[in-house]
Amino acid sequence: CHQTQTYSSLWPPIPLPPINQPLSLPEYCLSVFHRTSADGATIFVVNATTGETLSYSQFFSRVRSLAYSLQQRYSLSKNDVAFVLSPPSIHIPVVYFALLSLGIVLSPANPLSSNSEIAHQIQLCKPVVAFATSETSHKIPSLKRGTILLDSPEFLSLLTQSNMDNDVNKRVKVDQSDTAAILYSSGTTGRVKGVMMTHRNLIARMAVPHIFNTSQGGVGSGKPRGWVTFLTVPLFHVFGFFMLWAAVLTANSLVLVERFDFEEMLRAVEKYKVTGMPVSPPLVLAFVKSVLTSKYDLSSLTLLGSGGAPLGKEVTERFNEKFPTVELLQGYGLTETAGGATSAIGAEEAAQYGSVGRLGANMEAKIVDPQTGEAVPPGQRGELWLRGPIVMKGYVGDEKATAETLDSEGWLKTGDICYFDSQGFLYIVDRLKELIKYKAYQVPPAELEHLLVSHPQIADAAVIPYPDEEAGQIPMAYVVRITGSNITETQVMDFIAKQVAPYKKIRRVVFINSIPKSPAGKILRKELEAFSSYGKISD
Ligand code: AMP
Repeated sequence: CHQTQTYSSLWPPIPLPPINQPLSLPEYCLSVFHRTSADGATIFVVNATTGETLSYSQFFSRVRSLAYSLQQRYSLSKNDVAFVLSPPSIHIPVVYFALLSLGIVLSPANPLSSNSEIAHQIQLCKPVVAFATSETSHKIPSLKRGTILLDSPEFLSLLTQSNMDNDVNKRVKVDQSDTAAILYSSGTTGRVKGVMMTHRNLIARMAVPHIFNTSQGGVGSGKPRGWVTFLTVPLFHVFGFFMLWAAVLTANSLVLVERFDFEEMLRAVEKYKVTGMPVSPPLVLAFVKSVLTSKYDLSSLTLLGSGGAPLGKEVTERFNEKFPTVELLQGYGLTETAGGATSAIGAEEAAQYGSVGRLGANMEAKIVDPQTGEAVPPGQRGELWLRGPIVMKGYVGDEKATAETLDSEGWLKTGDICYFDSQGFLYIVDRLKELIKYKAYQVPPAELEHLLVSHPQIADAAVIPYPDEEAGQIPMAYVVRITGSNITETQVMDFIAKQVAPYKKIRRVVFINSIPKSPAGKILRKELEAFSSYGKISD
């Protein structure tokens, strides 16, 4: 029967604020923050590169001032879009919070993106203003309200307006259904798209207290958890984006660095007594392999939450042997689900090696045969479909892609091949979609293929993931040369490297006579993947 083929979260349903109550994500986070006993002197964010810190009271005051300035001086208003292109700094949380308080749509992108990648994102989100630094601003075209430089004295003056009305939300009513942020993802196929997340999506994401509760405190207990999180994941990606709001909600502290470096991270763990970190699997591997870990006092560390890409069973086991007092928990989610849709919680669930945990509260799932669209019986593999209040509104300006990804009943097709075991633990076994994940960063093959065939000596090309211990996957290209061409592997790689962000570089090239395609002209990626791994065994 249909019913048994839908999996519901094992957590009791969590009530959300009434949907028609105007409420922005920052207002929601603040209301929870004020229920903790944290005071304004609690440190919110530390920049470990520069030593700068912001207490919560400094943070809230800057947010109010910036929101006021953006309204008064820049005439920004609800539903305007702001593009953000900056490495991490203590200003980023202030900017995010101020924008969302005003109902301005925030669109953060990777500061390493190339000019053409940024042009594409700007075309999608249509910003009126940008926030950048003197290093990144040259990549941004001229916008109606200009570009605000975060490292300029002018910006600092926006943070210290004295004659401001204290409560932004007395002036601006943000509906929960309003878009809060546009983050970038290539989804199951094609080029990068803008994922529209509503305030409701993010409030629902935050309203799941079991994620934040520990024996020492947490949401609902009235006590700040007293946790210090080191941010190894970027603030423009859904993982880091989520961590930032979660910190405010739980009145915890965040430590960030402008440029990630493994040893600098270890030093910061010792210095700031870091208790937890969101990590991607390559970092777990680095923890396992590095000899530097014994040089620093890491005894404060109790939790690593891994997500964004598959975490191998063997790596997990080696990690647990080397760091027996640190709990390593795995979660799974997508930009399209505003982050984690499943997670392992507590030591017992952590011990289910290879699983990404159980469905989060308020979530439903189906495992579907991708060929027929029918749900498969329990225990069998198929495409994971997800439904719940964290599922995105859609892709901005792309009704076709939205309709292909979200069905009329609200199911999101994840493009991941998965199964549930009899206890409700989810296992991700393969990826149906084209997406390549290099160190948990998204690399859309279609974008690289498009660039490859623009080369005068390349007749056709296909890009697929190639397994790599350190990065998880690397982008590999199969290239068909035009007749008479002698273009080399290195030339192909250099041609792409000049045009894309470093994590999207092609790192392996194989020449081939033709690209296998279906009668409809679709690249047969799985065939190429099988071929590439066969090739690996024989070399
Ligand atoms: P992103 O939108 O960048 O977070 O990418 C989402 C995709 O990353 C998912 O659809 C999966 O393919 C992959 N992913 C995320 N977390 C995990 C995980 N824990 N295990 C395996 N794959 C994951």
